[in-house]
Amino acid sequence: MKFQPIFEKKERPLIVAGPCSAESEDQVLQTARALAKQDIDLFRAGIWKPRTRPNSFEGVGTVGLKWLKKVKEEVGLKVTTEVANAGHVYETMKYGIDVVWIGARTTVSPFAVQDIADALEGTDIPVLIKNPINPDLKLWIGAIERIYKAGITKIGVIHRGFSSFDDKTYRNTPRWQLPIELMQQFPDLTIICDNSHICGRRDILQPVAQKAMDLNFHGVMTETHPDPDNAWSDAKQQITPAVFKELMDSLVLRETISSNEDFLHNIEDLRSQIDLIDNEVLDLLGKRMQVADSIGEYKKRNNISILQPARWTEILEAAAAKGKVRGLSEEFIGKMLKAIHQESINHQETVMNKEHS
Ligand code: PEP
Ligand code: MN
Repeated sequence: MKFQPIFEKKERPLIVAGPCSAESEDQVLQTARALAKQDIDLFRAGIWKPRTRPNSFEGVGTVGLKWLKKVKEEVGLKVTTEVANAGHVYETMKYGIDVVWIGARTTVSPFAVQDIADALEGTDIPVLIKNPINPDLKLWIGAIERIYKAGITKIGVIHRGFSSFDDKTYRNTPRWQLPIELMQQFPDLTIICDNSHICGRRDILQPVAQKAMDLNFHGVMTETHPDPDNAWSDAKQQITPAVFKELMDSLVLRETISSNEDFLHNIEDLRSQIDLIDNEVLDLLGKRMQVADSIGEYKKRNNISILQPARWTEILEAAAAKGKVRGLSEEFIGKMLKAIHQESINHQETVMNKEHS
């Protein structure tokens, strides 16, 4: 697959902002006017809202498209909304919506994604695909492939985190390794971090957006509302346009690694040093296990048990002290030695259980 950028924009970050949901014409236009002053690239607002439980606010529906059209014509911002079925796609096309996005609950369903892909066939509307709610990279890639097969090449992805039953920090655990893997497989794919749905709260939006920038994401999508506490959906995670400005101003954009020859050279050098040291560590561990084998033999001959707690405590204490001098934490030393010790015991056991030949 070969992707084109969503927009011709040279500098990072690509900024998508706007309310979780369009609630009224006034709320939509007020937010858009405030955000237009901040040079955002794309205004977002959900019209059809996928909600976990019925009887919550499920979006204003098609009437909201008129408001988005006004944002486009009167405020001059490009606009995007979520589509979850073919009907939504046709409606958005009627109103000239610039970009559509596929939500996390839709990406999980290949039938739904295929329906959307079929409806998009023959258009060149850019499509943003959110990760599925479960951490399944193949499912995410499958959705990208379905849209791509419909002839859309302006495809981007939105990382919005993954559902988890025990995460107390995030609403949706970021699991950064998944978007990183996706970036490695598809280097020309636009990737945007939806810090709002990852965090589910306002106080950690900044570090999550910064982390995305440090990982070379192209942009951020942040929910912005004129009166966040009274938003009809996702109130806890939305911020005012003014706070959004502070957030964007605070982001530090570090040079992308690949463009700096010197950096590449130096990092290469440091990495080869690490490789050499790792080899030595492995050699030493191999040798240590050979000694463990000999001890096993010896104990067996003398009928002594493998585990000798006093000796183990002695080793741990001595190592913790030596580690401290070398800047290694006691926790690390403990974990490392436990793993090595376990491997030694396994070796000794193998030796002791071996039948005499
Ligand atoms: C949203 O962007 O408002 C939304 C519903 O997001 P997600 O599909 O990531 O839950
Ligand atoms: Mn939302």
